[in-house]
Amino acid sequence: MRREEILDLLFAQPFEAVCERAARVLEEEKGAHVHVRGLIEFSNSCRRNCRYCGLRCENGNLRRYTLAKAEIMAAATRAVALGADTIVLQSGEYAIDPMWLADVIDCLRGGLNVPVTLSVGEHPRAAYALWKEAGAVRFLLKHETADPLLYEALHPGHVLAERIASLRVLQRLGYEIGSGFMVGLPGQSLNTLADDIILARRLGVSMCGAGPFIPQHDTPLGAYPAGSAQLALRVMAVMRIVMPWANIPATTALATVDAQGGQRNGLLAGGNVLMPSFTPSAYGSQYCIYDNKNRVDMLGARKAIEGAGRSHTLARW
Ligand code: SAM
Ligand code: SF4
Repeated sequence: MRREEILDLLFAQPFEAVCERAARVLEEEKGAHVHVRGLIEFSNSCRRNCRYCGLRCENGNLRRYTLAKAEIMAAATRAVALGADTIVLQSGEYAIDPMWLADVIDCLRGGLNVPVTLSVGEHPRAAYALWKEAGAVRFLLKHETADPLLYEALHPGHVLAERIASLRVLQRLGYEIGSGFMVGLPGQSLNTLADDIILARRLGVSMCGAGPFIPQHDTPLGAYPAGSAQLALRVMAVMRIVMPWANIPATTALATVDAQGGQRNGLLAGGNVLMPSFTPSAYGSQYCIYDNKNRVDMLGARKAIEGAGRSHTLARW
């Protein structure tokens, strides 16, 4: 599909028509099943300084934590018992001891026999290879915005090409890669959203997330308005049409800007993944990437799945 057609779906076609088309594609490609990924935010330490994120290293108003291996295993055991089909280990980008994370992945694979997805930022190829060897199968690394100038403005000292190069390295190592971007970033031109979708398609991502930008009061972008939930839903529906094969999450950011129906609406707009959090509650409030973060749990996931008339084999509630 050409850029003009994507722009037409994004900004000219009626919302309902785009969602109906996305629902048909979803039904044909993925059926009614919703994947439930158990998210464990194991550290809020970060060396980067992304201007939108509350975990940025210059934010001193944050108690930094890193979970012990036993805490991660306990959270993962609970997630699997409640029906999570994958464990997603997420953190700020910090100097993780590669051997330590490899050991955690190995224990999750061996002890719980559950697939492991990583979302830990940019690292040397050797670390990515070690974690793959230990059993990690997917890696989420959002490109955040396909506009190279905006990328540089939002990520001091970093360029978009680096991010794309990391995604390529991960892909060559055999990971299923996931990317994604924010909707409503300060300085984002609307047409860039079409480029975001085209970039994700060109990368051949297995998963792509598009959630609204949400301000965090301790960041340079803290006074800007949040992105629109409605536009994020439209972007998801267009992604479903353009990348029928992709797994598309109804993001926690969507559930934060629309606490009532955000994730259900995300499933109705072409989404087929939910990522409830299993981060121990003592730490969850310190993983404050944006303000008023809605901690979506398994109960919330079940409500969204039922509300959208979809299914998931959840062991216990
Ligand atoms: N540090 C890793 C990285 O950046 O890839 C993974 C963790 S990071 C907190 C996960 C995602 O949070 C980022 O890819 C970004 O899209 C999202 N995020 C951060 N700040 C946000 C904000 N203010 N609004 C919406 N999403 C945000
Ligand atoms: Fe760190 Fe990721 Fe937040 Fe950037 S988005 S500051 S890399 S946690």
